[in-house]
Amino acid sequence: MLTNLKPQPADKILELIGMYRADPRPNKIDLGVGVYKNAEGVTPVMRAIKAAEKQLWEAETTKSYTGLAGEPAFHDAMIELVLGTSVERDRIAAAATPGGTGAIRQAMELVMLASPEATIWVSHPTWPNHLSIIKHLGLPLKEYRYFDSETRAVDFAGMAEDLAGVKAGDIVLLHGCCHNPTGANLTLAEWAEVISILQDTGATPLIDIAYQGFGDGLEEDAAGLRMVASEMPECLIAASCSKNFGVYRERTGILMAISETAKNTGVTQANLAYLNRQNFSFPPDHGARLVTMVLTDDALRADWKAELEEVRVGMLGLREQLASELQRLSGSDRFGFLAQHRGMFSRLGTTPELVQKLREDHGIYMVSDSRLNIAGLNKNTVPVLAEAIVKTGI
Ligand code: PMP
Repeated sequence: MLTNLKPQPADKILELIGMYRADPRPNKIDLGVGVYKNAEGVTPVMRAIKAAEKQLWEAETTKSYTGLAGEPAFHDAMIELVLGTSVERDRIAAAATPGGTGAIRQAMELVMLASPEATIWVSHPTWPNHLSIIKHLGLPLKEYRYFDSETRAVDFAGMAEDLAGVKAGDIVLLHGCCHNPTGANLTLAEWAEVISILQDTGATPLIDIAYQGFGDGLEEDAAGLRMVASEMPECLIAASCSKNFGVYRERTGILMAISETAKNTGVTQANLAYLNRQNFSFPPDHGARLVTMVLTDDALRADWKAELEEVRVGMLGLREQLASELQRLSGSDRFGFLAQHRGMFSRLGTTPELVQKLREDHGIYMVSDSRLNIAGLNKNTVPVLAEAIVKTGI
């Protein structure tokens, strides 16, 4: 039986990690993999998470099963973080999932139960795992224009035109903030226009928010999402705690499903629990419990917010340094977009050949679509990257 298996396409980013590891050059720079790294190149355990872990170790008396949808306290804490007070609590069903990826997967399965004919619309480009999950499940998939490769900003006219072709009942996947892979984001006015298009077409939004707090701030990064959730009758939200709580390997995420009226919440909640049961039974608990402790304890929450803000401001500083260094070396403003983009990623907008040249000539690793991870830089490597970009003729 196993001999029938065909090789699966290799994950490009994991392949890149392998190449980086095998490169003997001491001054190589990894801008590929999508994890936050501090100036020392370390992905730290956040202080508040470490403190919560210590408290949990003292206080936890059982590791027996939780609920199928995870702990209600985790739902409440995350709903408050992501949605604030934008939606009545009794309209929201929620289930803990293994990471944001698990939430996206469960969202797709919910769509298969509720609206099997739906086409899933994703931005072009999007996080490659969106495409591979949708294809794996065999769901109809369409792309809407998103990135203007000239300006490296959102091609909003193209996006609006494509979204106008969405059919009633279709699902439109939107990045809540810090678009991956481009770094280009919608303004609030553009979010408002997207809402109006979705209302006209009768489509349902699915918002993937994996970087809340990495862009303009915790509240600011959720503002577009909250507008959508408060103005659309229904909305799905897949939120990840991997980045903003630094709990990548704990697999902590949540799917929220907002119904038009509270009457429908019970059956939606039961479907979320059912889907968890079919796929993995109980969701991972450790990360979700730590996140709940951090969000519900004033001191831990304040410390977490302060550290997250240090991370955010640090990345913004690197963006500004890189943009101004490139302006100095190239004598043009064409890299100004790097300071406008938000989150961990920016798409440089160059060819795979020049990305390869950067790697071969300078030991600088980025994904072949020219996505670079800003957090892979520090103050000392920004000038090295800027010089390499200009020398490579990008
Ligand atoms: N959505 C996007 C856009 C992402 O970039 C990521 C992480 N790379 C995720 C979701 C999910 O992350 P995780 O499953 O690790 O929580």
